[in-house]
Amino acid sequence: MAISVTFLGAAQNVTGSSYAVEVDDAVVLVDCGLYQERALKDRNWAAFPIPPGRIQAVVLTHAHLDHCGLLPKLVRDGFRGKIYCTPATAEIVQIVLLDSAKIQEEDALNKAKRHAREGRRGPHPDLPLYTIRDAEAVLPLLTPAAYDTPVQVAGGIKASFFEAGHIFGSSMIRLDLGAAPAELSAPAELSAPAELSAPAKAVRTILFTGDLGRPNLPILQDPTACLAADYVVMESTYGDRVHEAAENIPDELARILNATQQAGGKVVIPAFAIERTQELIYHLSALLRAKKIQRLPVFLDSPMAIRVTEVFNRHKELFDDETKTLMGQGTEPYEFPGMIFTSKVEDSKAINKVRGSAVIIAGAGMCNGGRIKHHLVNTIGKPENTILFVGYQAVGTLGREILDGAKKVRILGQWHTVRARIEQLQGVSAHADREELLAWLQACAPPPRRVFVTHGEAQAALAFAAFVQEKTGWNASAPAYNQREVLT
Ligand SMILES: [Zn+2]
Repeated sequence: MAISVTFLGAAQNVTGSSYAVEVDDAVVLVDCGLYQERALKDRNWAAFPIPPGRIQAVVLTHAHLDHCGLLPKLVRDGFRGKIYCTPATAEIVQIVLLDSAKIQEEDALNKAKRHAREGRRGPHPDLPLYTIRDAEAVLPLLTPAAYDTPVQVAGGIKASFFEAGHIFGSSMIRLDLGAAPAELSAPAELSAPAELSAPAKAVRTILFTGDLGRPNLPILQDPTACLAADYVVMESTYGDRVHEAAENIPDELARILNATQQAGGKVVIPAFAIERTQELIYHLSALLRAKKIQRLPVFLDSPMAIRVTEVFNRHKELFDDETKTLMGQGTEPYEFPGMIFTSKVEDSKAINKVRGSAVIIAGAGMCNGGRIKHHLVNTIGKPENTILFVGYQAVGTLGREILDGAKKVRILGQWHTVRARIEQLQGVSAHADREELLAWLQACAPPPRRVFVTHGEAQAALAFAAFVQEKTGWNASAPAYNQREVLT
């Protein structure tokens, strides 16, 4: 039996997660992510290294674009199998892919106009990477798979999904390789819980962490403890860093809100639609209940974030104990006096007319698009207002410019002087840091034969592999792009 894993993305870089696992003729893709690092975006346009028609199934760890964003292209180029993921992930993936396709179409139009104006051609045709129609073709293939329940995804390959505690619906995935389908068809209720049993008759097991969350994040359950596996493929986004303590986040948030409210200003928060936004609302709601902030209007002005919040509300079974207890006491985590959801454009525009203090949460998280730009135009020039950043701001984005202290910024074609207060919430992260990654890995028993470190800048991935070797004595390495490893 020939068993292998090939690292098709997130190999000594962060985005474009994709791994091909092969058992004889069966091929399963773990994630099919979009490259978002500028230097690697060309890979989005290249032909898939494995013809999509040869791939039997895709298993998805979570709904972030760098893990699912190339699915429309995979399907357009011939993939016809099922795409397995948790039910919440399936719902969020639909929102994310349709939004991504819309952006691809808009980008292509803008690029075509610019190239026509400049009389030149870009490196790729001025066509979208994929269209809304391509994204729609993915949706019927999405196949919900429950947590902790093995499912046969291809000949000799069985997949199990476990809570990863990174974003809503996120999972680690263990593949049992070389298990004959017939032996695995016993009804689920007759088999022992997956985490307790050695996988039945599998020749090899490989565990993909996906993006690994952190203990004690709001709303989310903690990541599942490491499961027995022969091979572990683990992320290393913060493999060379330690986060600031997250305990101070509510206090910091209260300080910023109170100061701005005293000045009679507005707090404008560029926010990411999945998880970060819901976390913020959760904190605001808790601060109000504890009377650490005064009541004020809080606008969630992002149609995408509102749709994602609805997914949260449809899957309350995924909430952590704290959130469930809260709900048992009659408190809805995303509803409180003053919370206003604005889906419609008219309602969004009406926010400008609000007098006095308010909180405005709008996308996109790095200010590179979306309604946040309009709110920045209206608020950034006044000293009583605060622009509050709650997530990573990539180089080259408007968010990064503002955060880096630019005195003047160009927004929607006009220059604006920055007079608002600029703040950043420290310690906010949905990824485990170096110590948390190691602690998770050290709980793997028995020790895996090999640890493959992925999903980190080359420096972070290599540093973390060395760190693992040093601390555990286990065989750990950071595979290169397209590297293939035979799992003996
Ligand atoms: Zn992620």
